[in-house]
Amino acid sequence: MERTPLIAGNWKMHKTAAGAVALLGELLPKVAGAACEVLVCPPFTALAPAADILGGTSVALGAQDCFWERRGAYTGEISPVMLKEIGCDYCIVGHSERRQYFGETDDAVRRKALALQAEGLVPIVCVGETKEQRESGRAFEIIDKQLRECFNTSVDPRAVVVAYEPVWAIGTGLTATSEQAQEVHGLIRRRLGELFGAAGQGVRILYGGSVTPDNVAGLMAEPDIDGALVGGASLKADSFAAIVNYRRLG
Ligand code: PEP
Repeated sequence: MERTPLIAGNWKMHKTAAGAVALLGELLPKVAGAACEVLVCPPFTALAPAADILGGTSVALGAQDCFWERRGAYTGEISPVMLKEIGCDYCIVGHSERRQYFGETDDAVRRKALALQAEGLVPIVCVGETKEQRESGRAFEIIDKQLRECFNTSVDPRAVVVAYEPVWAIGTGLTATSEQAQEVHGLIRRRLGELFGAAGQGVRILYGGSVTPDNVAGLMAEPDIDGALVGGASLKADSFAAIVNYRRLG
C-alpha cells in the first residue's frame, strides 16, 4: 500500500510567536515542492501566527499535546476543538517527554487520540523504550504494551500516525541504526495489521530520535519507515529543509 512520507518537526518549548514567524519565513521557500508531506508542531502560543503564514502553503500545522474533553473546567488545558479552529490538522500525543515529566499514561494517550479523531485531527501517537528497557531486552515487550493500550478498534486507522521514538535516542545525538529502527517498525506494522487488518498497512510509522540530514536517507530507505519526527534539527530552517529534501539532494 502506498504511504506518502511525512516529515514532522516537533519544536517542543522553543520559539516565541515572533521566533516562529521568522523560522517559517525562512523555511517555506526551502521546502516548496517537497516530495513528502511536511508538518510543523510549534508551541501553543505560536500556533495562530504559524497558521496565518502557512495558510495556502503545503506545510501542515500540528500541536504537541491536547486534552481529551471538548471544553470545561480544566485549567490550563487545550481541546481538539480549539486546535481545529486555529488550523491544526495534526497533534502529537504520548511524547516520551510528556510521559516522563507530566505522567502521561497510555490510557490518556488513547483518549486523546480518539478525541482528536472525533474533531477530524490526526493524532501522532508516540511509543518507545528507555535505555534500561532496551538493555534488559524488553524493548519489544514495552512497545507492544504501549500499542495495545494506546490503540483499540475505535481508533480509525485511516487517520492516525505512529511515531517510534526510542527514548535513549531523543535529543542525545544517538540514533537507532536503520536496522534497529526497521526491526521495531516491522513489529509495529504487524501489530497494526492484527488490530486493523489490511488498513494497518496504510498507517504511517515515523522514526524519531536525533534524525539529521546525514542519517535521514538511510532511515527512509527501510520498508516500514514512512517518515521522521524531528526535534532539534527542526529548529533551524537549513537542517529541517535538508531532512525534508533528503531525496532531492541525496
Ligand atoms: C523528539 O523530541 O520528538 C525528537 C525526536 O527529538 P530529537 O530529534 O531532538 O532527538
